[in-house]
Amino acid sequence: MNFSDLGLEPELLRAVADKGYDTPTPIQAQAIPAVLSGRDVLAGAQTGTGKTAGFVLPLLQKLGKAAGRAPRVLVLSPTRELTAQIADSARAYGRYKDLRTLVIFGGVSERPQIDGLRSGCDLLVATPGRLLDLVEQRYADLSQVQHLVLDEADRMLDMGFIHAIKRIVKLLPQQRQNLMFSATYSEDIRALASRMLRDPVSVEVAARNTTAERVDQVAFRVTKEDKRHLLVHLFNTGATGEGSWHQALVFTRTKHGANRLAQQLEGAGIRAAAIHGNKSQAARVRALEDFKTGRIAALVATEVASRGLDIKELPQVVNYELPNVPEDYVHRIGRTARAGATGRAVSLVAPDEAGLLRDIERTMRQSVPVLPTPAFERRVPAGPPDRGPERGFNRPNASPPNRGGSAPRPAGPGGRPVSQSRRFGPSRRSRSAS
Ligand code: AMP
Repeated sequence: MNFSDLGLEPELLRAVADKGYDTPTPIQAQAIPAVLSGRDVLAGAQTGTGKTAGFVLPLLQKLGKAAGRAPRVLVLSPTRELTAQIADSARAYGRYKDLRTLVIFGGVSERPQIDGLRSGCDLLVATPGRLLDLVEQRYADLSQVQHLVLDEADRMLDMGFIHAIKRIVKLLPQQRQNLMFSATYSEDIRALASRMLRDPVSVEVAARNTTAERVDQVAFRVTKEDKRHLLVHLFNTGATGEGSWHQALVFTRTKHGANRLAQQLEGAGIRAAAIHGNKSQAARVRALEDFKTGRIAALVATEVASRGLDIKELPQVVNYELPNVPEDYVHRIGRTARAGATGRAVSLVAPDEAGLLRDIERTMRQSVPVLPTPAFERRVPAGPPDRGPERGFNRPNASPPNRGGSAPRPAGPGGRPVSQSRRFGPSRRSRSAS
């Protein structure tokens, strides 16, 4: 099957060809004709499946060309990053069409967004909170919305957006098309779907865990205190003989933990930045850009900040701490192995996280091999207490890793772990400041 079989118009086919896609992903093959037919759609799909094009392409076609000032398509999405990425996709897929896309999210000045609403748009992509603010101040007119998309609906509910969503939906015309995308189907999601959708077409992409199956997953057992040392070792030598890591997206559970780990990595000579909800939008954008352009090697992120991050060729995802919710693990490792590529997810599992790993394995119906923990040195200073969320990551390293001291321990052949007996490294010789 190719894109021209799906009923898309030439302008859109051209933009798709520009992007270099030749085959629709399974979700696109199912969702595009369903959306074009005008039916409501309930789609079980997570980021990485190509779902964005699955709703953006047919909606651009349905919009025709620019008309009026009030938006006719409204896409609600949980995070700033995802919102910006959907808008970028809409602009890219709509480049041969005369349509206006506007993006609205919190954490930045309202002024340009108000100006954007005044000049008019056809497609509005927004986070619910900021949109509601602007609606209440009467800047946003939602009376012309004909197509509503709830993207990552499960995540929006997790983030407490249900009231904002309900209030926004009340302002929309009754007659409209509704599309809902969700990676998981909780009771709350089912309830929202039955309230929102009329006789929906259900679109499910094969197994829920197709992404997970394409990711080479491994775990290492390590104490909480030793995680940072092992992580630095993995950066320097690789996890299973692949050689040193060029880049990795590293997940922590807390914002504070993300800041601290980014500092510790920098202290060990690995350029790093943290990305989480307490960072200003400018800092988040800059961190993401620096990661995409390769200026930093480690992007340390919390769950929420990671949603929808679209980073091409991301070979490694590290679960520095396991998430409490197994579905979040699937989301996290979905950052690698996007759109057909394969990738690797490495989990560092402390003794008190063993139960979480079991829950994850049960949910995925797949086991995660636990590899022998390689020998590593404890050379990473604990670092000062958290210096706050806005610490610049562009500063030169405060403490180069090997200054006047031992060179990194050479890995075994091909960077493979050396021996089990030295698994926790020679702690007495360690120069660690911890
Ligand atoms: P999404 O799940 O919408 O976040 O998309 C995941 C990634 O897949 C993005 O980088 C898209 O640019 C890419 N992508 C979407 N559709 C296709 C396709 N048909 N072929 C190849 N890549 C795609």
